[in-house]
Amino acid sequence: MFVQLRETLQAGGRIDRAQAEWLFTACPDEELRELAQIVRGRYHAPTAATWLKMAIVNYTNVCVARCDYCAFYRFPGQPDTYTLSFEQVRAKIEALVSLGGDMVGFNGGFHPDLPLEHYTELFDKCRATFPELAFYEMTIAEFMFVAKRGKWSYDAAAKAFADSGTRWITGGGAEVLDDAFRLRHSPGKYKVEDYYDAQRAVLNAGMGSTATMVIGFDESLEERLNHLDRLRRFQDDEAGRLTSFLCWTYKPYETELGGAEVPLNEYLRWMATCRIYVDNIKHLRTSVLTRNNDAMMGLAYGADDFDLPTEDEVTQSAGATISHDFEGVLNSARALGFDPQHRAPFGAWNEAQ
Ligand code: SF4
Repeated sequence: MFVQLRETLQAGGRIDRAQAEWLFTACPDEELRELAQIVRGRYHAPTAATWLKMAIVNYTNVCVARCDYCAFYRFPGQPDTYTLSFEQVRAKIEALVSLGGDMVGFNGGFHPDLPLEHYTELFDKCRATFPELAFYEMTIAEFMFVAKRGKWSYDAAAKAFADSGTRWITGGGAEVLDDAFRLRHSPGKYKVEDYYDAQRAVLNAGMGSTATMVIGFDESLEERLNHLDRLRRFQDDEAGRLTSFLCWTYKPYETELGGAEVPLNEYLRWMATCRIYVDNIKHLRTSVLTRNNDAMMGLAYGADDFDLPTEDEVTQSAGATISHDFEGVLNSARALGFDPQHRAPFGAWNEAQ
């Protein structure tokens, strides 16, 4: 099987679902890395890797979705809920600037009382105050909730965000894009086709978006492959408009679902499977947020890009530890033979990446 797959990939070909399953479950590690590097090599030089520094600002922990894998949210009315004012958000962004940061990602809960205008005004003030930074202004999951709450169509909501200056609504909140998985763990969040309808509206409004995936809950291999399969078809249909694909791992601490962390080798093997199977997204991102310095090993399994996180309360609530020893992470990449280079934030999808 390995020789056949190597010939296919070297010729620029594509693997099928059964072959992706074989890669993850049976391909020897060294051969899996070799195959991942073939697909990586279609886009990037062998030792190339890029990074930027990013804070995730969690503007509210109020959420009505009740995902059982989430340790961050508080239901409305609970005593320790919060919603940050602009001044509090600004203080967080100033902390990022003091650390030499490049980008802010906003991520909060499904707050039932905040209309779309609350977000566009907040983001507008942030862009005006920090013109030197780039902003990921919410995730597709939050976008869907805000649109539904205000009875906006996805197209109309996307146009409202784009008209207000938003350039990115990322693919965050995807976890495992499989309806059986969603029903088990976050039945109030969305259905898979709804997610892609919203993402298509975001792209059609001229904003950029990304793909994400989280592994390590209780999902089956079938469910994981469903995620990759649907993502690859979406990216084909959308002519390559998703800029990057970030795969990270579930943190189980303090969550209702609980469980154990995915072993590093399983994460790396899944990363390689993502690189080989989802061959139509240029950048595969490895997760320092959830794997710290070990994430750099993902570069040898097909990843080419990562961010150095400065804060993210969502994953920290569930056990993630964020270090500001940024040079230590970069040295881990160098020790593996990579040459990590600081990059500017990507432009929106229709600009050169
Ligand atoms: S993961 Fe997001 S949507 Fe789900 S409960 Fe947590 S904050 Fe709410």
